[in-house]
Amino acid sequence: MLQVLPQNISNLIAAGEVVSRPASVVKELVENAVDAGAKSVVVSVLDAGKTLIQVIDDGCGMSPDDAVLCFERHATSKIASAEDLQRIVTYGFRGEALASIAAVAEVTLRTRRPEDEIGTMVEISGTQPARRQPVAAPSGTHFAIRNLFYNVPARRKFLKSDNAELRAIIQEFLRIALIRPEVAFKLTSNGKEIHNLRPAATRKKRILDIYGMNLAKELVEVNVDTSLVRVSGYVGNPEDARKSTGNQFFFVNGRFFRSPFFHKAVCKPYEKLLPDDYTPAYFLFLETEPERVDVNIHPAKTEVKFEDEGMIFEILVAAVREALGKNDFTPSIDFDMKGAPDIPVFSPRDSNGAGYRPPRMDYSPLFNPFDTPSEPLPSELPELGATEPALPPTPGYGRLFEEESSAALSSLIVLQRKYIVTPVKSGMMVIDIRRARQRIFYERYLEKMAERQPVRQQSLFPVTVQLSAEDCLTLLGQPDLLARLGFDIQDFGGNTVVVNALPEGYPTSEEEVRRCIDQLIAALRDDTSLEDQHHLMAASMAASASACGAESLNATEAQLLVDRLFACREPKLTPDGRRTLTLITLEELEKKL
Ligand code: ADP
Ligand code: MG
Repeated sequence: MLQVLPQNISNLIAAGEVVSRPASVVKELVENAVDAGAKSVVVSVLDAGKTLIQVIDDGCGMSPDDAVLCFERHATSKIASAEDLQRIVTYGFRGEALASIAAVAEVTLRTRRPEDEIGTMVEISGTQPARRQPVAAPSGTHFAIRNLFYNVPARRKFLKSDNAELRAIIQEFLRIALIRPEVAFKLTSNGKEIHNLRPAATRKKRILDIYGMNLAKELVEVNVDTSLVRVSGYVGNPEDARKSTGNQFFFVNGRFFRSPFFHKAVCKPYEKLLPDDYTPAYFLFLETEPERVDVNIHPAKTEVKFEDEGMIFEILVAAVREALGKNDFTPSIDFDMKGAPDIPVFSPRDSNGAGYRPPRMDYSPLFNPFDTPSEPLPSELPELGATEPALPPTPGYGRLFEEESSAALSSLIVLQRKYIVTPVKSGMMVIDIRRARQRIFYERYLEKMAERQPVRQQSLFPVTVQLSAEDCLTLLGQPDLLARLGFDIQDFGGNTVVVNALPEGYPTSEEEVRRCIDQLIAALRDDTSLEDQHHLMAASMAASASACGAESLNATEAQLLVDRLFACREPKLTPDGRRTLTLITLEELEKKL
């Protein structure tokens, strides 16, 4: 028998499309606030929005009737006719969001229009019809969303950690804040301020307020106008591309969208300039005739369809290429420091004015961070001291190289500080020193993580690193893991952390430390299993630690490196699968001669 679903059930089903996690609620409510002409929007969440999401605006407010009506499905004040659908300038237009939210949470609305004396309070939740009463209220609108998914346990159970959900909230928040610099936005989480953005005169000022000078000064301006599309905004300087992939934003006609296709276009001009796994930051604002883009293809509306995708791809490539070329990779934005936010730029040098540099730590390229001093000193290698006991040759040698490696490692040549060349039975073997170190560190780090032993630390002159709010959360979200790995990283407030110690073996210059922290964040960010995460962490740590082996090796050190490499379980490849060594056979040589 056919049946019309009771409205609360059909709302519940539809809600799944619009509301998938706390961040989607934040998105819908903040968009509504902006649509209502707010000059200031305050978002506060408890427990990453799982317990409470509040959005307060000073916009146009609602009449007592509208305050109830807005929760009806397809109640919207934004579309009056079918033609309107073509030219939508506001965010919302389906009139689904509030109905969906009310279906899966307990909602309280307080609102008052500026022209009204008295405001309205409405309480509604999935099981309860709306209850309305007059209240005193400031003009504007205040939504409080409690106990999201209280009636959909399956949904609630699949929410991610508070840390991950909060990161998603920050992302949605920034997507709107970036496109509306003239509006003040504030975000707090469990009472802690995450962003407090004053109205900004320009987009670039807003970017500066969000990310601080560190990122902002590395951006170059993009500006291209064609008959099809106007592209403006900023892209990252290749020299400063961050490994973490957070800061990539596309907007079209004032709306954030996601596009792996256009992402490729933006990355293309960087291909030759950046290592494969680095992604440039970008903030690109496209403007096109509203008829040429369909924003209506996805309920959450982050996917859009362009009529002339291929052409726009080419325009993007050209625009970014031109921007990079024109700026010759030097910062071109004249960010005005006077209006800069209070982002602490603490550094030990600045604070006492003495102008000293952190001491350059002596670094032994074969230094093994894991051997404890109690291990016996290898008498045959006195110059490397306690840090470098010789490893006995182990059965871990790669099969292929069994005979070669035992054959004649006595005569080694270190070539250009980069390679070790050694004769073997069938010809010669060339080992990439940096990659070999990467493999060795990787297996050691993994071993230590598996043993759950803290990796030993080396302390630093504290290095301050300014991060995005999201990255900061990612980094500080797992203090135990960080400590076990040998990091000592403290929250300095204002999305700044102070790095006091690193796992031994890591490079220690300020610049390198910043780079390592970026890599660490990238590894922590992936929502993978703990075991995978260990692999990622170990690989990223190994990449960092191996980055500073430029000192030339003496023969003994080279020999040790080779021994250690062949003691690895997989000596032939780096953790990310590149070759650590190659064989050049006599035949190949003969062909060449
Ligand atoms: P849509 O945004 O697609 O119109 P929503 O369900 O998000 O649908 O909102 C329904 C209606 O409620 C809006 O069209 C608007 O008239 C009203 N509304 C929602 N939020 C606010 C707000 N913060 N201030 C004023 N009016 C609002
Ligand atoms: Mg809406």
